Amino acid sequence: MRKSKWLQNVLLCIGGVFLFLAGIGLGWIRCRQTETAFWENILIAPEPEECVACDNLQGPRFHAPCLLELSTGELTELEIYEPCHRYSGELAPDQDMDYNVMTFGGSGLPLFIDRMEEIQRCVAYLPEKAGGEIEPFYYCRDCRAKLTKVATQGYVLLDLYDLDAIQVYPVEDSAEYPIRIYTVTMAHDEDQGHLVVTNIGHLFES
Ligand SMILES: [Zn+2]
Ligand SMILES: [Zn+2]
Repeated sequence: MRKSKWLQNVLLCIGGVFLFLAGIGLGWIRCRQTETAFWENILIAPEPEECVACDNLQGPRFHAPCLLELSTGELTELEIYEPCHRYSGELAPDQDMDYNVMTFGGSGLPLFIDRMEEIQRCVAYLPEKAGGEIEPFYYCRDCRAKLTKVATQGYVLLDLYDLDAIQVYPVEDSAEYPIRIYTVTMAHDEDQGHLVVTNIGHLFES
């Protein structure tokens, strides 16, 4: 009698452990399945007629680095200098150096631009956990590969000056990227719960 009770408990224990491990196993398989489906979708989603990143032939070219919201394909140029009106993607030879504006970039990001002798900068404020998962149909397959190597959700920083050599940078706290005549830094603002992205221009420095 005593012995069979003991045996029963042992069997219950073994059963419990088995169910527990099976649960973990199933969870792991489910996780792998959604992950596989995610990457499958990245691969097989039809390509757009014009890729937001590399094939923006009708739209403006961007001299300054751009923030890209991966889920919407919205680009926000961290613009500091006046663009050239004759050559898209180049800067105007004469710059008004008394310029301070607040404006909005793509996906409604507030931008603060200062163009003065002392400092030339553009500051963007990204809300915490901004942006969802990448929506592949905005991008050609080449760009999907480049983008997802760096991030699969939220924002990335892009250098689109040379469309044949697009550069992708992670958007993360404490990052600093020298990009041609620009330096982009990123810093977490504890009080506001924002990631502050600052682009400093060095057009007049040799
Ligand atoms: Zn592309
Ligand atoms: Zn400088």
